[in-house]
Amino acid sequence: MILLGSTGSIGVNALQIAAQFHLDVDVLAAGRNITLLNQQIQQHRPRVVVIADEADRHRVAHPNILVGEAGMLDAIEGSDATQVVNAIVGFAGLKPTLKAIACNKAIALANKESLVAGGSFVDTANIQPIDSEHFGLWYLMQPSKPLRKMTITASGGAFRDWPLERLKDASLEDALKHPNWSMGQKITIDSASMMNKLFELLEARWLFGEGEYDAIIETRSLIHALIDFQDGSTTAHMAHASMQLPIAYALCATVDQTILQPVDLVQVGSLEFRAIACDRYPIWQIKEALLKEPERGVIVNAANEAAIEKFVDKKIGFLEISHQVLQAYDTFTTAPKNIDEVFLLDTEVRRYVALL
Ligand code: NDP
Repeated sequence: MILLGSTGSIGVNALQIAAQFHLDVDVLAAGRNITLLNQQIQQHRPRVVVIADEADRHRVAHPNILVGEAGMLDAIEGSDATQVVNAIVGFAGLKPTLKAIACNKAIALANKESLVAGGSFVDTANIQPIDSEHFGLWYLMQPSKPLRKMTITASGGAFRDWPLERLKDASLEDALKHPNWSMGQKITIDSASMMNKLFELLEARWLFGEGEYDAIIETRSLIHALIDFQDGSTTAHMAHASMQLPIAYALCATVDQTILQPVDLVQVGSLEFRAIACDRYPIWQIKEALLKEPERGVIVNAANEAAIEKFVDKKIGFLEISHQVLQAYDTFTTAPKNIDEVFLLDTEVRRYVALL
């Protein structure tokens, strides 16, 4: 396989699954964590390595190094591997997804921003999502019966129990204290604002087609998805909070080994569900509108990435991330008509948010 984002949270888990199932790694692509990349090179012996920055080339212990976005796209095109695992974070993942599709490769897609931003121009036929909620929905859909509604769950993120009046003072360090999952920085911030769940609803819409989608909070992150069927039954997908299960299914044709221990409900005792409230998660107010016009996801994604950059640089407070995204969503009202317009709109929205 070709693994993009090998040094990230998903990348590291994907390599554990690759080792467990004896999968060959042809290409490893990382950003700037060269120390970890060198360890991965030693263990997985890739044919090609891609890094983000030319200045790091001399530190990489490999004879065949490509650099930057162009290097990553060349590595995808030049590889005989049939599968690309896209675990890059952010909009930077869209071009590699498009390239993998153009090269007829199967895609194990963790990079949800590919679908959020470019969903209407991304052929999902060869995409297997690496996300517990979509994995859960997919798992529940196996005995195909008429569906009524698909629900995914949220943990509620770092601020789910904070008094509302404290949210405006929340720091980056506070936002990174996720109650249930250990993940990369950006998705952890997105969990705290509930942006991550909005993105996952869009992702579900592109993966599973039109239908009724919603999300609720389940504070333990043991239930990942629920389906209401037409007959009145509801089924739920439960598993411990680990990405290894969705990764194993996305990477392997057959999963016949134990990946996780089952959830022991007696030990769990009880579960708590909550509605997602707009006063705590202001971004939730555009959920219905965005699901009706999912093509506008590119606006929300670009504004979110630009606002998070400012939050990380301590230029704006936590709540301003959501407010600036809402402002951009009100300002940019058109949907892109082709993939070139997705890239243009992304640039325009980022410029707009940078100046707010
Ligand atoms: P991390 O921040 O942990 O990792 C991101 C990876 O991408 C790192 O390997 C990083 O390299 C690399 N990277 C970032 N930018 C570039 C670039 N421009 N060029 C090349 N490489 C780059 O993120 P996560 O693993 O948490 O998330 C990855 C994706 O998966 C996101 O889209 C996220 O939403 C999604 N996802 C994550 C889940 C999780 O449990 N973590 C669950 C479901 C989905 P380096 O660190 O070397 O600089």
